[in-house]
Amino acid sequence: MARGGRTKILDLLKTPKIDTQVTVKGWVRTKRGNKSIQFIALNDGSTIHNIQLVIDVSNFDEELLKSINTGACIRADGKLVKSQGSGQPVEIQVADLEIYGVADPEKYPLQKKGHSLEFLREIAHLRPRTNTFGAVLRIRNAMAFAIHKYFNENGFVYLHTPIITGSDCEGAGEMFVVTTLDINNPPRRNDKSVNYSEDFFGKQCNLTVSGQLEGELGALALSEIYTFGPTFRAENSNTPRHLAEFWMIEPEMAFYEIDENMDLAEDFIKYLVRYALENCADDLEFLQKMYDDSLIERLKSVIECDFIRLDYTEGIEILKNSGVKFEFPVHWGLDLQSEHERYLVEKHFKKPVILTNYPKEIKAFYMKQNNDGKTVRAMDVLFPKIGEIIGGSQREENYDKLVSRIHELNMAEKDVWWYLDTRRFGTAPHSGFGLGFERLLLFVTGMANIRDVIPFPRTPKNAEF
Ligand code: ATP
Ligand code: MN
Repeated sequence: MARGGRTKILDLLKTPKIDTQVTVKGWVRTKRGNKSIQFIALNDGSTIHNIQLVIDVSNFDEELLKSINTGACIRADGKLVKSQGSGQPVEIQVADLEIYGVADPEKYPLQKKGHSLEFLREIAHLRPRTNTFGAVLRIRNAMAFAIHKYFNENGFVYLHTPIITGSDCEGAGEMFVVTTLDINNPPRRNDKSVNYSEDFFGKQCNLTVSGQLEGELGALALSEIYTFGPTFRAENSNTPRHLAEFWMIEPEMAFYEIDENMDLAEDFIKYLVRYALENCADDLEFLQKMYDDSLIERLKSVIECDFIRLDYTEGIEILKNSGVKFEFPVHWGLDLQSEHERYLVEKHFKKPVILTNYPKEIKAFYMKQNNDGKTVRAMDVLFPKIGEIIGGSQREENYDKLVSRIHELNMAEKDVWWYLDTRRFGTAPHSGFGLGFERLLLFVTGMANIRDVIPFPRTPKNAEF
């Protein structure tokens, strides 16, 4: 349907109706030509491809044509014809032009092509108009859709877990406080600590770092659920893989043990990568050409291989015997860093690795304890170029074991009474994992920095747009 009084460039190019009158609207990418004929490449964001507008200069006002520069927004009406040039299959012989908004060539920041990604981050309000961000944002949209499609096809219920949370025991990272108290003069207790009982929620609340604990409540009623929402971590980690605000997909399944959890993670990621290859080919080809020669080959290889499944303890042995001098020396009990994860994936196995049975000390309280007394049924999925893309586990469903772990860690039982209730009433074996949406997008787009796969990145000292 031609909404907005125009045909989208994507539709126009997909099924070109030669010799019909069409209207297109969009932003000028380039204008070139001479005194008698001019060519405009127009883009409306529906596809990486531009439509070529052919303008017979004698038919138009000179001033009007002069003010159509790179970045201007225009409408063009005319006849769609087979292109005479070799660069494109079709073009429009323009009969009428209207300018919605000019873009002063002296001032428009995207006047030239080939800006660095660093520069584009400083103009995040305009970068969606570049080919790169058009491609990335369309792929991001396709992946979000595919995630919902996958879970719907598999009978999972989309559960909306809270963004403001009263539990500070999620344990996945530092949290942002949510408050309406006057931060210059908060009410205080006798010991000078802030008296949150006078705050909006009557207690200290935070932005969530994970929807998992609430996800478990859903799984132990609806049996297979997933969450897909924003999560927040106030960690000062300035890396190409960390954001302060990112999106996470967290399926949680009753009756799954660790093996089925791994099966689901592998099937899910392969489905998403396959979806991208089948539905985002133009954008992937563009990103491959611009940034990453082996992108499409790497995506295909992930679909075709079986992921390696390996015990943490075996992983440590491989790293120790690698002869590589890592920045963080390897020993049993080490919380693996990206350098270790990438060694296993890129150098040793040359395929994705699911690492299981981690030392309990480096994992969260809720993970199911193994009989060895030392390890828990964690599973991290490690990917080339990224390291950890998924973190998950089978959950401890035994009330007594869970409570004793909570005591060991000096956590307050009363803060998680509602979580513990699920283990008191109708508990069941269950498992789940969290996939970082932007980590997935790093893999699928081949982009190197996580700031370039989210429209408006939030990182330390950066929340301008
Ligand atoms: P990492 O060790 O890489 O910091 P994590 O172990 O703290 O990650 P989890 O708590 O296991 O992360 O979160 C589940 C998933 O969420 C991770 O596997 C990753 O894909 C993603 N993720 C975690 N932290 C961030 C972040 N700060 N920015 C973007 N994605 C993240
Ligand atoms: Mn993790």
